[in-house]
Amino acid sequence: MSRPKDASRRPEPAVTPASPCPCGRAEAYRDCCAAFHQGRAAAPTAERLMRSRYSAFAVGDTGYLLRTWHPTTRPGSLDLEPAQRWTGLDILGTTGGSAFHTEGTVEFRAHFRVHGHADSQYENSRFVREDGKWVYLDALSSV
Ligand SMILES: [Zn+2]
Repeated sequence: MSRPKDASRRPEPAVTPASPCPCGRAEAYRDCCAAFHQGRAAAPTAERLMRSRYSAFAVGDTGYLLRTWHPTTRPGSLDLEPAQRWTGLDILGTTGGSAFHTEGTVEFRAHFRVHGHADSQYENSRFVREDGKWVYLDALSSV
């Protein structure tokens, strides 16, 4: 069975270890955010943590999302919208967030499709380092 090569009508492929990482970096998922999702490495910067959290939304890893949420703002549980397909991430700007910082912000727009309708979510997120690891704190602004 063949499908037309029309990207707008193609169903979203499932993310496999060899897929391009959903976060938009050049590496395969297994060499990029999967290392963080599986606990093989910790995100070295706030931006990498933000990207890995986006990837966690894309692969449905709610455990990772909760683990990388600051304990003071973390929800008790997280239900993802099953019909929501994450289609791309644009990092718009960052402050701090490097190996030399304990705080940082990442401004981004995350693109998704739900029930055939394309939409996006903007947020300027705040991250802090907790026990040496970057975690998501809260949104400074969002639309
Ligand atoms: Zn990635």
